Amino acid sequence: MKLKKIKVIKGRIFCETGLHIGGSQDEIEIGGVDLPVIKHPITKEPYIPGSSLKGKMRSTLERKYDKVTNKGEPCGCGKEDCLICRVFGPHKNTSHSLGPTRILVRDSKLSQETRNEYNELAVKGGVLPLENKTENIINRLKGTAEHPRSLERVPAGSKFDMEIAVQIFEGDNEQDIIDFIKEGLLLVQETYLGGFGSRGSGKVKFQDLTIDGEAFTLGREN
Ligand SMILES: [Zn+2]
Repeated sequence: MKLKKIKVIKGRIFCETGLHIGGSQDEIEIGGVDLPVIKHPITKEPYIPGSSLKGKMRSTLERKYDKVTNKGEPCGCGKEDCLICRVFGPHKNTSHSLGPTRILVRDSKLSQETRNEYNELAVKGGVLPLENKTENIINRLKGTAEHPRSLERVPAGSKFDMEIAVQIFEGDNEQDIIDFIKEGLLLVQETYLGGFGSRGSGKVKFQDLTIDGEAFTLGREN
């Protein structure tokens, strides 16, 4: 199977609300938050793992195209005409002839603009750049809040640099694959990224999108 070209989609992920993508429970510090966000082990900066964005694009597309298996697992049909399997890889299926997964989603680092804002805030009086939000469960009988947990979030207004590479192989319908990926991004924008989406976290907007340097939009915007 011959690789024809690699197309590169770039853009920024703008957080319209706080964003929570869970980090390792091992990193919980004494006196820290209960649910930390994932951070780079050395710089300690939050980032968006490629697997989080890819997984969310895939799962919303699977729902839209009714490709969720009855076991609730990702699609692994491996059929020639299944764009889920072609673009994202056939789940657990080792005997398909679709070739490599077409989409490669890089980890998204904080954009320089946001990093500068964080640093400025930190210098100005020790304001923590990350937000701590307390999540409660309301007791239905007493009406009181119980089991409060502190949830760490990347604050609204933060931006991350996104990069997605798309491998186009001989025999692929390039336009179909690109349109499918754009639709996946749009579905993430219309739902949420990361955890606690039904409680207001993770509303993101994809901005300044380009494909091989040419600007494009996702449609249905504003
Ligand atoms: Zn499939």
